[in-house]
Amino acid sequence: MFENISRRFQDVIKTVSGKATISDKNIEEAVEQIKLALLDADVNLRVVRRFVNQTIEEAKGEKVLRSVSPGQQFIKIVNDKLIHFLGDEKQDLQLKGPDTLSVVLLAGLQGSGKTTSAAKLANLLKKQGRKPILIAADLVRPAAIDQLETLAAAIGVAIYTDRENNNPVKVVKAGLKEAKKGLYDVAIIDTAGRHQVDDALMGEIEAVAKEAKPDEVLFVADAMTGQSAADVAKAFKERIDITGVILTKFDSDTRGGAALSIKTITKAPIKFIGVGEKTEDFEPFYPDRIASRILG
Ligand code: GDP
Repeated sequence: MFENISRRFQDVIKTVSGKATISDKNIEEAVEQIKLALLDADVNLRVVRRFVNQTIEEAKGEKVLRSVSPGQQFIKIVNDKLIHFLGDEKQDLQLKGPDTLSVVLLAGLQGSGKTTSAAKLANLLKKQGRKPILIAADLVRPAAIDQLETLAAAIGVAIYTDRENNNPVKVVKAGLKEAKKGLYDVAIIDTAGRHQVDDALMGEIEAVAKEAKPDEVLFVADAMTGQSAADVAKAFKERIDITGVILTKFDSDTRGGAALSIKTITKAPIKFIGVGEKTEDFEPFYPDRIASRILG
């Protein structure tokens, strides 16, 4: 993961780290290398421009030029910038207290990892002492209900399904009623995806969100799709109020474009990453740790 971008950032570090003095020209050259590394990692062009401009502006200030170790100071600026573009602080789920039902809605394209992530999140919340229930409202992909049922059984989490009903809004309404009756404290709703953003998908997710009044709407994005993950997230955000992102397939050979673009493009922070196919392969997203991985 991030191998290429990491190697290129490390090359830049090597060039500047030992320098006793550093000139504006050195900074410009280093930033040019960073720009190419970001573009090659499929980071959105607007994000790259902002990254580059902010880095140059800060690095050319007094702080670097007059510092005792200018190379290190420059590297610190780049590190802080990476953390910033990855989302600054770790962002927790905003759920109600355990006595009231909170609702988490998952949205995204088909194949992004929604169903898997629903189970992963339920598993994590259960381990944290919550009482989650899954609601199977992906009524488009034929195997989605079975898949969620199998996962729910494996992690020992309750699930609401209604195979007779083909209206996701009604399924969600009934599922939430069931959740309240059963004294569950978090309902996690898996919704239908499509292969690309389309009006039917958007209309459906909008209607489901209106019914569910979710505390969190998590957009599930496949990290392998690079900056297009950020574009799709933005298209969703125009219709529903996304409060966070789950970036899946972080264990794959992802270049970094999605992770570095999404927060700036959508204003929604990455809250979790999927790091494998198993239910345990799910972690909170720590921007500083990812920045460290990139800088090596
Ligand atoms: P959905 O169509 O959005 O519900 O997607 P699924 O949950 O069915 O996931 C699609 C595929 O991606 C499945 O084969 C999952 O096992 C796989 N997958 C989901 N999340 C991850 C992840 O974090 N890492 C890896 N390697 N595979 C994942």
